[in-house]
This record gives sequence, structure tokens and C-alpha cells, in this order.
Amino acid sequence: MREGFKSVLEFLEVDLEIEEEQEHLYNQLATISKDAKVKETFQHLARAAKGHKDALGRIIRDIETDNHDVSFYCLMCGWEIDFGKMPSVGNEERCSLCCQKFALVDVDNDYTTKFLPQ
Ligand SMILES: [Zn+2]
Repeated sequence: MREGFKSVLEFLEVDLEIEEEQEHLYNQLATISKDAKVKETFQHLARAAKGHKDALGRIIRDIETDNHDVSFYCLMCGWEIDFGKMPSVGNEERCSLCCQKFALVDVDNDYTTKFLPQ
């Protein structure tokens, strides 16, 4: 498991399972539907669930292969603060909008940020 992403990966895995179950269920319902419009609706929902499942799978693979930026929203102004790919705990970044400085910290294998004095 990639350092710093423990909870994120757990959430993504649960979401992936839900999308897989939905895709399977919608395909089953499309198969047994007699009404053409209902069948088409379930086929559309199955394709949407597959799209979500594929997107979640790509995010998980990117995290597991260290090809994912570590970024947070600034706690002062909401602007994005990007620590880049494979950052080290303790790295410091400054919000490009409000100039607040943050350090990257790890709490129980989850990355988070800490305010630093200006
Ligand atoms: Zn800011």
C-alpha cells in the first residue's frame, strides 16, 4: 500500500466494489427486462457504472505506482497546494494565492498538512 494514501485507497476500493456490483446488477436487469426502453435504461446505467469503475481503477493504479500528485486545498483560501509525485514527509509548500505555508505530514499512513508560521 502506497505510503500516505491508506484511507484514500480504502475508500476507493469500497467505491470500486460498489460500481462493480452496480454494473453486474444493471446488466442482469437489462437482460431480463421485456420493455425496450427499460432495457435501454439499464444498459445505460451499466455503462455508466463501468465508466466509474474504470476511472476508480485508474486512480488506484496511479497511486500504487507513485504516478499521482499529492495535493490538498489550502485551509486558508481553498486554493490547491500541490506537493507533487512521491513527496517526502516534511516537504514545505506555500499557497500560491494567499502565501500561507504548509508542511506535508503523515498521520497513521495518511498524508495531511500542517500550518507553518509565515
Ligand atoms: Zn491559500
